[in-house]
Amino acid sequence: MRFDLITIFPEFFAGPLDHGIVRRAKEAGIAEIHVQDLREFTKDRHRTVDDRPFGGGEGMVLKPAPLFEAVESLLGHGLGDAQKRVPLEAGTAVVLMSAAGRLFTQETARRYAKLERLILICGRYEGVDERVAEFLATDEISVGDYVLSGGELPAAIVVDAVTRLLPGALGNEASAENESFSQLEPCATGNSIAIPQAPQARLLLDFPHYTRPAEYRGWKVPEVLIGGNHAEVAKWRRKQATEKTRRNRPDL
Ligand code: SAH
Repeated sequence: MRFDLITIFPEFFAGPLDHGIVRRAKEAGIAEIHVQDLREFTKDRHRTVDDRPFGGGEGMVLKPAPLFEAVESLLGHGLGDAQKRVPLEAGTAVVLMSAAGRLFTQETARRYAKLERLILICGRYEGVDERVAEFLATDEISVGDYVLSGGELPAAIVVDAVTRLLPGALGNEASAENESFSQLEPCATGNSIAIPQAPQARLLLDFPHYTRPAEYRGWKVPEVLIGGNHAEVAKWRRKQATEKTRRNRPDL
């Protein structure tokens, strides 16, 4: 899978994507990550990417032209205009990082992991000209309910979460299945006898993990994990995961 990151700070990604699973996925040719300097698509001496907002107000806004042209250059074809838009190839998504976007979840990551190409646009300043969200991006995505200074960290989050779902990226294929947000727990809703209903899917957080030593500063690893009874361990983990989900994320 290929990722393209469009940013005014290309050097930003030198660190975050050079470790662990993402690094190995790059080396194995599972993920290809290309960083595109937005300023290459400016035409003035100062390489201006931003301008003042129409209607007044604080701060600057990223102009549409460099962003449209950067994406077109990466795609290798034009995208048209208001009169005639040229569609993207199937398997490609253009994602605008935005605090005002839809929340990025494990479900989004799974959807992206099936694509061939993800082009991520990193905003800065007060944000990005809305025509980018409306007519260039296929998705407008937020990584959480807080405001960051730029889309670079959010884009790195998306690349990381998607990359680890690519086939072969994790050493042990099975390990993605047991992680937080991955397990679907069927939960009984309503009167299951009289009215048969589709069980409502629930997301589970991960169960607690322990390693050696079995006792640390007087805090002991739960007995059941040491006993070697796999069925009991599985039952205990399930229960703990459910309790932790209820405690930390009642919304799930
Ligand atoms: N004025 C905007 C915030 C701009 S922050 C607002 O109030 O919504 C500048 C850039 O940082 C944004 O364009 C976006 O690309 C990025 N950004 C900030 N918070 C983000 C978040 N939670 N998720 C994704 N991108 C975010």
